[in-house]
Formats: sequence, structure tokens, C-alpha cells
Amino acid sequence: MRDMLPLLKKTNFPAIKRARMNTLQVNLGYLCNQTCFHCHVNAGPKRKEIMDEANINLLIQLMEISGIKTLDLTGGAPEMNPYFRKLVLAARKLKINVIDRCNLTILSEDGYEWLADFLADNQVEVAASLPCYLEDNVDAQRGDGVFQTSIAGIHKLNSLGYGMEDNKLTLNLVYNPQGISLPPSQVELESAYKKELLARYDIHFNELFTITNQPIARFGSTLVTKGLFDEYMTLLKDNFQQANVKGVMCRTLISIDWQGYVYDCDFNQMLGLHAPIEGEDKLHIAQLIAQEELEQTLHQGLAGQPITIMDHCYACTAGQGSSCGGAL
Ligand code: SF4
Ligand code: SF4
Repeated sequence: MRDMLPLLKKTNFPAIKRARMNTLQVNLGYLCNQTCFHCHVNAGPKRKEIMDEANINLLIQLMEISGIKTLDLTGGAPEMNPYFRKLVLAARKLKINVIDRCNLTILSEDGYEWLADFLADNQVEVAASLPCYLEDNVDAQRGDGVFQTSIAGIHKLNSLGYGMEDNKLTLNLVYNPQGISLPPSQVELESAYKKELLARYDIHFNELFTITNQPIARFGSTLVTKGLFDEYMTLLKDNFQQANVKGVMCRTLISIDWQGYVYDCDFNQMLGLHAPIEGEDKLHIAQLIAQEELEQTLHQGLAGQPITIMDHCYACTAGQGSSCGGAL
């Protein structure tokens, strides 16, 4: 995999500073049952890097004393971490809203028969990738058979009440473009998804989040190999919208890697760019927990601290903007 840092380092992206923090985003590891083309973490079935129980326990400690409102779980397939259930149960006991970034196909894997019921029983919000409502497009991006298995996964969630109007279980779908283009209007695409998925497959969901592909990891490397990196960066920069800068997600979250280190966002995590919090080069959650008045530090003390930016940040501000919750 190509080192993308030299290509992204020199940037004119405007400086950004933290606001009040409300979300803890945790990458539980790079193990995944899929190997998608656009994957920004290069996840796959052979990856060995997953968060261990000691760091899970530190996260639980952090949640107990930090007063955070949302725990956002990513991977890989976060559910493949053996301590996924322990972490979710601890968060729900503390009344923390939990988001599971689910790839849908994991719901049909052998050994994961418990998953759908577990998510529903604990009112976990599901954010699920479905990059198109057309089978061929999804299979081209995510692998043969992925579309039909994803549809089966959504049916399973719908049958438990997820995405149904009269139910509190939230199922949001996530779209990302297939090539070097920006996502179309989130509002219009959501309406097309709702119409097509209902008519073709009797599928229900709450919202559609459109996400811009990041020029890093597997997607970034492919752009370089195909000689399209500069063209894609020009597209992102030409569509820069100053108004999106204040809404970028790194202003209100901290991102934790599978080893327990702190970053500004999942993308910086993949680039190995540690968050410059409290002047530390590399801050571990154990150091955060050890701080006196942690809640004060996380919610107010971080406000105003700088965020590490490089050229990939233009993916968050191009066009309608992009974050883990879709357009800004
Ligand atoms: S994009 Fe998601 S489902 Fe695909 S390989 Fe990466 S983590 Fe797995
Ligand atoms: S890439 Fe990360 S650090 Fe840069 S603007 Fe987006 S969320 Fe913030």
C-alpha cells in the first residue's frame, strides 16, 4: 500500500480548531468479512489488528467518567471484535447512544446469528453501507454477491422494526460514489433510494448519508496507480465550500484506534496523524483517563485546540460537505 502522506502534506486547507466534544468514535480493528475497493482502512478477513480487552476496559472507564453522549463504532466490521458486545452493553448501561457502522453482510455470516437481535435489544443505531440501489454497481464496488446479502441483512433489520416509521430503531444507509466524482444531492438521492428500494425489494430505512471518498488508503493508492490522483484532488479543491469548514466532524469528536491512541478523525487515524491534543505527540486513552477533571477537559478544555489538517481534508468540505453523518 502506497504511503499517501507525501502527496497530502503540503496544503492550503484553512486551519481548524476544536469545538465542544460530544462523540467518541472508536475503530475496533481492521478485521472485516469484506475487502471493498473504496475502503479507507484497507480492512479485510486477514487483518489481525483488533482492539484487545485491556483497551476495551479503558474505553468503558473513559465512558463512565467523560459524560460523552455518543459512541460511534467503526472497523473493519466492528461486530467481529470479540468484545463488541461487552462495550455496547457498558455504553447502553450508561445511556450512551451507540452507532454501529455495519456492512450488512456480517448479519448473514456464520457465527453472527445473534447480531441483529442484539442490536435491536440494545437499541443500537445502525449506519449501513449501501453504495447504490442497483445490484451490479454494489457488487462492482464491494464484491460479488454483496448486494443480495446486504438486502437480506436489511430485511432482517426491518423485520425487527429497524427503519420502520412507527419504531424507534434507526437504520441509516450510507452512500459513497463509485469513481472520481462527488456525491449527488443527499436529499434527492435519499428520495430515489427510498422509492427504488421500496419498489424493488420492500426495504425501509430512515435517512441516507452521502459520503465523499477520501483520497487515502486503498482508494487513494488506486487513484495514484491509475494516474487519477491529481484530477480527483483538483475536483475536491475546485468544489471547496468555506461554509462547510465549521461543520467538519473532527471539531466535535475524538477518534480512537484499535491500540487506544487518540486522533482527530478516522481518516487522520489511517494516515497515522495523531491528534495534537494537550501538546502530546501521541496521546493514549490511559493518559486521558489519568487527567484530573476529565469531563471538563473533554467538553471544554479541548475547545480551541488545533486539528491536524492536510490535503485530504478537502474531501470533507467539497460540495455539500461530508462527514460520518453524511452531508454537512
Ligand atoms: S468499506 Fe467497510 S465493509 Fe468494506 S472492507 Fe472496509 S470496513 Fe469492510
Ligand atoms: S479529514 Fe479529518 S481532520 Fe480533515 S477535515 Fe475531515 S474530519 Fe477533519
